[in-house]
Amino acid sequence: MTPHSTNGNGCAAATDKRRLAFDANGNMPLTESELDEMVEQLQTKFAEVMDILRIDRASDPNSRETPRRLARMWVQELFIGRYTPPPPVTIFPNRKRVNELVISRGIEVMSVCSHHWQPISGTCTIGYMPGEYIIGLSKLTRIVEWFSRRGQIQEEMGEQIADYLEQLLKPRALGVIISAKHYCMIARGVEADHEHSDMVTSVMRGLLQTDANLRNEFLQLANM
Ligand SMILES: [Zn+2]
Repeated sequence: MTPHSTNGNGCAAATDKRRLAFDANGNMPLTESELDEMVEQLQTKFAEVMDILRIDRASDPNSRETPRRLARMWVQELFIGRYTPPPPVTIFPNRKRVNELVISRGIEVMSVCSHHWQPISGTCTIGYMPGEYIIGLSKLTRIVEWFSRRGQIQEEMGEQIADYLEQLLKPRALGVIISAKHYCMIARGVEADHEHSDMVTSVMRGLLQTDANLRNEFLQLANM
């Protein structure tokens, strides 16, 4: 699956495009006016939800503007990675033939779980051994943000990020480790311990899959 695949064939009429549904962690870029219309529609629906929950939107000053706030938050922030094209990324030739691990730690992950629409909050560590190309580390942050601002499953998010970087950089080795708290486990359900309830997933590609020494080095550097 390509990172920005959709279920659509790209030639749907404008009216159909808005109704075209795709995976919560998929991507289909929309125009500004399409996003504005989505906010308008969502605002109406959130007002209905609040009515069903018997929240007095008319007289509670804290609830009056909430349908609009919620609509904008979901479209323009929490799910924006579903509706925007990939961030612009420049890659450079690996002129010095760097063949050591290049690691970026502490990349912020702010996502939402597909199952409960509750926050997933944590960090991502990405390490790669360059092949022909290297990438500016700040671009990794943008790429992680693009994938995390969707309805996600942590396991799939790691795979999506790895697939994308593998296509882009064709690295000799690539590792993506995500460590995050899932608020669906903290706020509800098993009510996990706030401090110690991280979920850790790792994706290893290329030499990190086959070379145990390199994998140990990566894990040590990732945990420093
Ligand atoms: Zn969940």
